Amino acid sequence: MSHDDCLFCKIIAGDIPSAKVYEDEQVYAFLDISQVTKGHTLVIPKVHTKNIYETPVDVAGELFKRVPKIANAIQKAYKPNGLNLLNNNEAFAGQSVFHLHIHIIPRYDESDGFDAKWLPKNDEFSSEDLKLISSEISKQLK
Ligand code: AMP
Ligand code: ZN
Repeated sequence: MSHDDCLFCKIIAGDIPSAKVYEDEQVYAFLDISQVTKGHTLVIPKVHTKNIYETPVDVAGELFKRVPKIANAIQKAYKPNGLNLLNNNEAFAGQSVFHLHIHIIPRYDESDGFDAKWLPKNDEFSSEDLKLISSEISKQLK
């Protein structure tokens, strides 16, 4: 269940202090120590799972089920103009703690420290390309 070398398992166990936002039998939520914006919260399953690839469906479901409630609590507390949900998987994609977590990042203004902009490449992929890509992915779902 818990993983000896995992920072977030230690936080759940209370061996490392955290600013708790929410806790129940399956999920723990606490403030990200980096506070990219005020109220930046991490929501994690109590069961250790490295990232989205390794997460059993019930763990994923129970985790995400709590997110709207926590997001609304942040909304009520600080009235941000919006929020971003972020989940990094593997180091290449920015994962630095290898215990699944969802970032809830409240957004206040354009210079609040977070930017979720990306470069759309609509011109590079034709509708035929999209059909091929979707079929290549969906055949892996079977
Ligand atoms: P990621 O880079 O998506 O794996 O996110 C890991 C997050 O964990 C980073 O945003 C860190 O600021 C945060 N973090 C690391 N150590 C702690 C800690 N002791 N308490 C709270 N958050 C932490
Ligand atoms: Zn862990």
